[in-house]
Amino acid sequence: MAVKKPHHVQLVEACPGCGEDTEHQVRLQIMEENTGPDDESRSFSREPYRVSECSVCGETETMRMNNA
Ligand SMILES: [Zn+2]
Repeated sequence: MAVKKPHHVQLVEACPGCGEDTEHQVRLQIMEENTGPDDESRSFSREPYRVSECSVCGETETMRMNNA
């Protein structure tokens, strides 16, 4: 398998899947969100998400960046 230079960052974080600190590949991802019908402004908004994938078990955590 070819090794290409990743554009994500490697960080050591706690992994709920492994139950210990493991290396994670962290990247940012912009996702379009459809605000639900309860929301009066039903528009798509682009939200930045922080995606962190455990390099040991592959568990992926997605966390919204701007949860005010
Ligand atoms: Zn893990």
